[in-house]
Amino acid sequence: MGYLEGFAITIRQHRLFGGKQVTTEYSGGRRARKKGTDAREAPGDEKLPRPARLHGRHVLNRYEDGMEKCIGCELCAGVCPANCIYVRGADNDPESPTSPGERFGFVYEINYLRCIHCDMCVEACPTEAITESKLFEFSFTNRDDAIYTKAELVVDDDGAPKKMPWEDWRLGDDVDTSGWMRATSPSGDATFEGAVGWSGELGHGVRDPEPQQAERDKTVRVVER
Ligand code: SF4
Ligand code: SF4
Repeated sequence: MGYLEGFAITIRQHRLFGGKQVTTEYSGGRRARKKGTDAREAPGDEKLPRPARLHGRHVLNRYEDGMEKCIGCELCAGVCPANCIYVRGADNDPESPTSPGERFGFVYEINYLRCIHCDMCVEACPTEAITESKLFEFSFTNRDDAIYTKAELVVDDDGAPKKMPWEDWRLGDDVDTSGWMRATSPSGDATFEGAVGWSGELGHGVRDPEPQQAERDKTVRVVER
């Protein structure tokens, strides 16, 4: 589509829907809606059910006692094919440690202008610190917002992801934050099906393993096109 054609569509949308209703600063690119209605209630704006293994916006997990799981080892940064993770570790204060062991993640950033949600960082992490929520609807209007800092990535005191103003969280997006990590631990070997090989998470405890394939197949939802 040529530039002129694109401009014409933009101008037409603004004339039809009153400008800011097309895409407000943090609208997440939602479609235009009638004045006075909440975008989340607008017909056609529902999210489809999310599979437990979906790769969404990351979180940095904490243990059940509140300690951070990240030990600042930088393995996630090393494996990331998009080179979008920046980590710096630091020594724990012996009197008031941030994580168990010697080191913790002092600086942690993910640049979502680069991330391709491959989840190799999740696979590489030795402590299950970095996993992902089911949130995939987050758009930015500036570079600062796109680079998530540790303060934004570390889960809250109830174990839930922190929610940024430009993110479109819906019911359930913040619940199953370690689905992919558990599905591939250890290495997706069927011999270990049903075996728990992961630690507890703040707010969730030790999560159950996925049901066996036969059980999962019963709940597969066919999306008609
Ligand atoms: S999901 Fe992939 S691209 Fe994104 S931060 Fe992790 S390793 Fe990098
Ligand atoms: S998130 Fe995991 S892999 Fe990355 S620095 Fe922290 S402990 Fe290491």
